[in-house]
Amino acid sequence: MNQRALEKLVLENEIRAGIEQGQFMAYFQPKVDLGTGRIHGCEALVRWNHPTQGMVSPTKFITAAEETGLIAPLGDYIMRDAAKKAAAWLRRGIALRVAVNVSAMQFNDDNFTAKVQSILAETGLPASLFELEITESIAMSNPDRVIRLLEPLRNKGVRIAIDDFGTGHSNLAALTRMPFDVFKIDQSFIRALGKDRNAPTMIETIIAMAGGLNYETVAEGVETQEQAAFLKKRGATLGQGYLFGSPMSADQFEAHARNWAARADGLSPAPSIEGLRRTS
Ligand code: C2E
Ligand code: MG
Ligand code: MG
Repeated sequence: MNQRALEKLVLENEIRAGIEQGQFMAYFQPKVDLGTGRIHGCEALVRWNHPTQGMVSPTKFITAAEETGLIAPLGDYIMRDAAKKAAAWLRRGIALRVAVNVSAMQFNDDNFTAKVQSILAETGLPASLFELEITESIAMSNPDRVIRLLEPLRNKGVRIAIDDFGTGHSNLAALTRMPFDVFKIDQSFIRALGKDRNAPTMIETIIAMAGGLNYETVAEGVETQEQAAFLKKRGATLGQGYLFGSPMSADQFEAHARNWAARADGLSPAPSIEGLRRTS
């Protein structure tokens, strides 16, 4: 117990120092339009450039950041970093929507709506190129709060996605009352394709429900051509996963997006899903 408590304390102090010293940054993973094969946007994912451990994934520190409350300043920092980088791409001719993850603690802040608006104003990123990903469990824990905090942003053009959809306990009545635009189908469903005979039905049901509500769908964790082909055939809007590109730095993402567009423009019609390959 003491050892665990000590490790936690060390990690907490390292995260705090890391925020102050600018060791955290947004990485970006492409989301590809399954119909056209073109990059449609990206998700910002936090990475920690740790002084001794190199690039550290959020699974190693998000829980500690949440338990200590440091997720609030860290999440805000990543939101600003992602918006700043997307605004810079836009100035260089790349207009892609960037989605950021919102933690429960950031969402508990009554100032959340104003903070997002000031980040957009400060960075010059148009609201229409910004998306917030809220997990299904956060959304379901307080639908009224979701409506109050998110509706003003959505009215300005910010898109709202429900992340890891299918893993929470959605109350369908509450779900349809909330201001969402996108369902992100949890990667566990995609991974189950070919393994669990119920997986296709579950995915089809989510896509049908999204279609009925006029929402977009993003399939998470797409790793194989077979998965992409199935999702395309079933009408999922976008795919995200290692098949289309791993999370990468802003500079790498910009180069990846340019290469991808050049390939798409050089081929007529745009590359089919079968023609896409993992490039990073
Ligand atoms: P998420 O929002 O559901 O993000 C998707 C995760 O799936 C990312 O893990 C991504 O790297 C991973 N992934 C993408 N494609 C594939 C694939 O084809 N196969 C597999 N197996 N995995 C894939 P990552 O970057 O480790 O992030 C994990 C979670 O940490 C995120 O899940 C999100 O909940 C949280 N997180 C990441 N960045 C932030 C942030 O800036 N703020 C907050 N609050 N949470 C964040
Ligand atoms: Mg997410
Ligand atoms: Mg997710």
